[in-house]
Amino acid sequence: MHKIYLDAKEMPTQWYNILADLPTPMEPPISPFTGKPVTLDELKAIFPPALIEQEMSSERWIDIPEKVLDILSIWRPTPLIRAKRLEEALGTPAKIYFKYEGVSPAGSHKPNTAVAQAYYNKISGINRLTTETGAGQWGSALSVACKMFDMSCRVYMVKVSFHQKPYRKSFMHMFGAEVIPSPSEFTNSGRAILEKNPNSNGSLGIAISEAVEEAAGREDTNYALGSVLNHVLLHQTVIGLEAKKQLEKVGDYPDKVFASCGGGSNFGGIAFPFVRDKIVEDKNVECVAVEPASCPTLTKGVFAYDYGDVAKLTPIMKMFTLGHDFEPPAIHAGGLRYHGDSPIVSKLYKDGLINAESVLQSEVFQYGMLFAQTEGIVPAPESSHAIAATVKEALKCKEEGKEKTLLFCLSGHGFFDMGSYDAYLDGKLVDFEYPEEEIKKSMENLPKI
Ligand SMILES: *Cc1c(COP(=O)(O)O)cnc(C)c1O
Repeated sequence: MHKIYLDAKEMPTQWYNILADLPTPMEPPISPFTGKPVTLDELKAIFPPALIEQEMSSERWIDIPEKVLDILSIWRPTPLIRAKRLEEALGTPAKIYFKYEGVSPAGSHKPNTAVAQAYYNKISGINRLTTETGAGQWGSALSVACKMFDMSCRVYMVKVSFHQKPYRKSFMHMFGAEVIPSPSEFTNSGRAILEKNPNSNGSLGIAISEAVEEAAGREDTNYALGSVLNHVLLHQTVIGLEAKKQLEKVGDYPDKVFASCGGGSNFGGIAFPFVRDKIVEDKNVECVAVEPASCPTLTKGVFAYDYGDVAKLTPIMKMFTLGHDFEPPAIHAGGLRYHGDSPIVSKLYKDGLINAESVLQSEVFQYGMLFAQTEGIVPAPESSHAIAATVKEALKCKEEGKEKTLLFCLSGHGFFDMGSYDAYLDGKLVDFEYPEEEIKKSMENLPKI
């Protein structure tokens, strides 16, 4: 048997809030307009009250609303699978398990928070959301969630992806969302960029500015973010809570947990329930955030206050960052091209409670292919970062003759990424160097707090 089942009845009914168990407190987000800690009123312009409360809550367990559970149960609990065929191909004594989030409607872990965010906006009387999307996974997830709650949705999509990923756009259209290539003429932030560079490819930081600006300027519209923020990581903890129960069923517990890390949401989702065990029960478990060598936020960035977007409209957060105006190289894992990282993940890394490593694009595709050919699932290039790090660990176990238990998050499938696999198969994929000079330049523009 490869798959470890969980009954619908065994689905978690509460989210785990790691803020309740941090050994030292977080530093507050700072308003870009006043230079002082962000006030409730500033957040209320773009977020509903329940999400603001969750963002700051130190309640350890937070109930998942009935209506959210009902929708999550369409695809949850997700499978935990023992990758026996991959283990055999590697000849490793390690046990490899993966939690598969690609069974969701949008094909990734992102609907876990999209559904919750749409719900809390809906019950506060908001019927319209704006957001940004890079490769299109978050935009897809929010489009589905908005449709389920009968809300409208406008997605600012990074222009280069808008043209490169036409089927992500079709997907969002299918669920009734409006998709706008960013930078656009709809906002001041977009127009300012276009004035300087009419051919701008856009970036996640620019698209965030556009979506936030519009939401802040309209009574009837709020903004939704797919990663980075505390409440997003909170909603994703269903991944790790389920995985823990599933491993218990087979009498196992991981020595190491791997997840790809862009803004930190699938990493936080699978890892936080295990980081809790490390903090509270002194368990010997190591959680590893895996990032691209070309956008090495944790492994090469600095821990500092920085903006979340290019136009400096979002709160300034203490996090690992490469600088808010750093534009990472156009790797095939669009979901990992963000200059910053979740403040919680950043703090855990700073405090030595988690680990991080970076992998090259060539390893990502080499081991992603091996995974597809052994386990039969096409992984998203983002998820293949976790695969690459897990495989490297499993090969180390083979060398050292160690029988470790490894767990990784397969955050999504790669059915919309076949163009990237073509590039790999045609030998056209390149490894980007660590863009040291550009990062250095961008670091000079950090806000002085
Ligand atoms: C968005 C995305 C990621 C990266 O985002 P995180 O917030 O770091 O999880 C990873 N994998 C998939 C499949 C994604 O869609």
